[in-house]
Amino acid sequence: MQSMRLEYFACFVINMINLNEIKNFFTGFIEILYPKICEGCKSLSSNILCNNCKDNIIYTPSYGCSICGRVVTSFKCDDCLNNQIYYKKCKTIVKYKDIIVTLVHMFKYNKREDIGDYIIKEMIDRFPYENVKFDYISNVPMHSIRHLLRNFDHSRYLAKGISKQKNIPYKTFIKKTKYIKSQTKFSHEDRFNNILNSFRLITKDNLKGKNILIIDDVITTGATLNEYAKILSKTQANIYLLVYADARK
Ligand SMILES: [Zn+2]
Ligand SMILES: [Zn+2]
Repeated sequence: MQSMRLEYFACFVINMINLNEIKNFFTGFIEILYPKICEGCKSLSSNILCNNCKDNIIYTPSYGCSICGRVVTSFKCDDCLNNQIYYKKCKTIVKYKDIIVTLVHMFKYNKREDIGDYIIKEMIDRFPYENVKFDYISNVPMHSIRHLLRNFDHSRYLAKGISKQKNIPYKTFIKKTKYIKSQTKFSHEDRFNNILNSFRLITKDNLKGKNILIIDDVITTGATLNEYAKILSKTQANIYLLVYADARK
């Protein structure tokens, strides 16, 4: 009889305790121990970046080359005039500079999904293609070896996040078949030669006339994105690029 009463009492106590309150208590406790800080200046901030650091971000101006979006005052930049470009348009959100370099690195190499979510929100808030009806969203694929080494496909993370928010299906059309070491140390010309024949079309879908949006984190020369677009353009799809950070000169 005594144990029955104890059991009833225990159930009563458990029902009285709101699990959310316990969760809130521990979250608050963790925040006291490890307060959230701005990733730019390390001051206390409830967001990834404090307002001060946000004010220092350089957003890409709306003018620029009508194809690749590079900041020039002419209608087309020299690159687009002298080379074959396989995509219709490329738009970027911010300049790859200062805090943006840090953010992209932390997202990419430290797998910081919260920073990925911040980048996705920025790309959605400043979405430059409101007049285009997209059929699919995709990203430049990572080679399977690199994926295995890194265990995180950052551009797929961004593409899938934007696909979900914009309600546009995510699909993979191309496979990376050539393993290329990091491109950062190569010259402009070497990058072009390096990336040649590194992608293979794997889709059997009829993509003729479909509008496809390709997402990436950084554009450095545009060589990889143009080579990717060259292979995908064999399907006669219209290819648009949306890249978070612009590292082009
Ligand atoms: Zn800050
Ligand atoms: Zn251009």
